[in-house]
Amino acid sequence: MNVGYRDFGAFLKEHFAGKVQKISINAGFSCPNRDGTKGVGGCTYCNNQTFNPAYCSPAKSVAEQLDEGKRFFARKYPDMRYLAYFQAYTNTYGAFDNIRGLYEEALGVSGVVGLIIGTRPDCMPDELLDYLSSLRQKGTFVLVEYGVETSRNDTLCLINRGHTWEDSVDAVTRTASAGIMTGAHIIAGLPGEDASDLVATARLLSQLPLATVKLHQLQLIKGTRLAMQVSKGDLVVKHWTVEQYIGVCLDFIRNISPTIAIERFTSQSPDELLISPRWGLKNYQFTALLNNAISRNSVVQGSALG
Ligand code: SF4
Repeated sequence: MNVGYRDFGAFLKEHFAGKVQKISINAGFSCPNRDGTKGVGGCTYCNNQTFNPAYCSPAKSVAEQLDEGKRFFARKYPDMRYLAYFQAYTNTYGAFDNIRGLYEEALGVSGVVGLIIGTRPDCMPDELLDYLSSLRQKGTFVLVEYGVETSRNDTLCLINRGHTWEDSVDAVTRTASAGIMTGAHIIAGLPGEDASDLVATARLLSQLPLATVKLHQLQLIKGTRLAMQVSKGDLVVKHWTVEQYIGVCLDFIRNISPTIAIERFTSQSPDELLISPRWGLKNYQFTALLNNAISRNSVVQGSALG
């Protein structure tokens, strides 16, 4: 539990009495920003190397992946319950019956008490929203996490996201109106953006009916279009030190509504793929530094919102 902000652990405690653990799944979804439906080439920071011909066919079923995850945690915590986290690619993209079948396969696994679904803001059909709403009405935990990334449309265009900020507002609003919890995924330090742009995004997010937000630093990954653009000098990205990025996070916390739980502040790509930033810190080490800075600076979530 943190003193300066409402974290994801606190958020889960508001929904569940005992221990709950997310288990990530690759259910074999694809991405409409690559196959021409929404765009081609994908987001410029997205790692092409993971998009091999086999990426749509994970070797293990949803139930097998969940069972494997459960075995890992159940040894230490026999009473643990689980949330199936549909994480890889666009987990609302495809034929409705297929999508519903995958969600129900997850919910049919013993101990699984809910779904967290990662997707794009331009990819939430009404039929699926109605289905998720019916799950909620039956008491199933459902959180849809949208890749919002930034509120600036010129940046979204520059990184080839293939959707706009208005798409994000529409998706979050429709989803929350259907009684489903929504989350936003945001990237700090996108090309052309600085800390003040992130603050502006935080303030706009604060006006939306969001339950959670996830923040992470832009990571320059080998083999991506963005890495090529930066190496050629066509684009410039921020090279924050860890101390500078902690300052960015503090401003984010001050400018995000306390009604929105903050799930995380960093992400860590595999070492062999990461170009920058190379801070050499594990996520928990970063969190310890951030928490110290929060205490030292008496940071309070949403205090700058007035
Ligand atoms: S980041 Fe997500 S939406 Fe963008 S290309 Fe990669 S999988 Fe598709």
